[in-house]
Amino acid sequence: MARRRQLYEGKAKILFEGPEPGTLVQYFKDDATAGNGAKSGIITGKGVLNNRISEHLMLRLQEIGIPTHFIRRINMREQLVKEVEIIPLEVVIRNIAAGSIAKRFGIEEGTRLPRTIVEFYYKNDELNDPLVSEDHIIAFGWACPHDLEDMTSMAMRVNDFLCGLFGGIGIQLVDFKLEFGRSWEGDDMRIVLADEISPDNCRLWDNQTNEKLDKDRFRRDLGNVREAYQEVARRLGILPEAGNGGDMKGPETMQ
Ligand code: C5P
Repeated sequence: MARRRQLYEGKAKILFEGPEPGTLVQYFKDDATAGNGAKSGIITGKGVLNNRISEHLMLRLQEIGIPTHFIRRINMREQLVKEVEIIPLEVVIRNIAAGSIAKRFGIEEGTRLPRTIVEFYYKNDELNDPLVSEDHIIAFGWACPHDLEDMTSMAMRVNDFLCGLFGGIGIQLVDFKLEFGRSWEGDDMRIVLADEISPDNCRLWDNQTNEKLDKDRFRRDLGNVREAYQEVARRLGILPEAGNGGDMKGPETMQ
């Protein structure tokens, strides 16, 4: 395969120039970091699993009319996406208290929130991605009120849909993070869902046992990280069942 020009390397992904103008190749690494890089490690096969899981979720969301940057999966670790101008915000949607909101407000993890809460964080590693208000976002020009409204309503639709999708496979969607980008066609701009949706940026708990099936297993040294991601993929129906003629002993066989 022709070597591609690397445009950006993030903590879990690399972006390369795409084969046609206006496209990028998103490569999923096995690297895992937590606490803004304070903790790092490799989860063998994570990139392969996240590529598949994110493809699956983005396609399902496109089917219900959510515009996304996803075009198609290229291979086990790469997908072709539209080049978008990333809005420097992390949009976090929470259904159940966990992680930073539990800590910030002293709420016991696992408490269902009175209603779904949408939060915005300014994407800036040096500042540790601070929580920001809509006023900050508008005043500092990261997004205009209309963009914010678009992102919030899309985030709520994504949440409704994903709660149902995961609920159907015995998983509670506790919270998750989305990123959005501006996609231009001539003078027309629309906001589209970008980045990825995977156990790296969702909290997913088993309905029966509350077992964590997401990156908290890495963040909190709970072990069996890959197995948890694999379980999510298996329940989504995108991995052959073990012992069912599948060739998926572990994602490392899928490089
Ligand atoms: O840490 P916190 O509780 O704020 O995380 C909320 C959700 O956003 C979690 O699902 C986490 O995986 C995700 N997140 C993320 N990237 C960040 C911060 C949080 O994907 N930089």
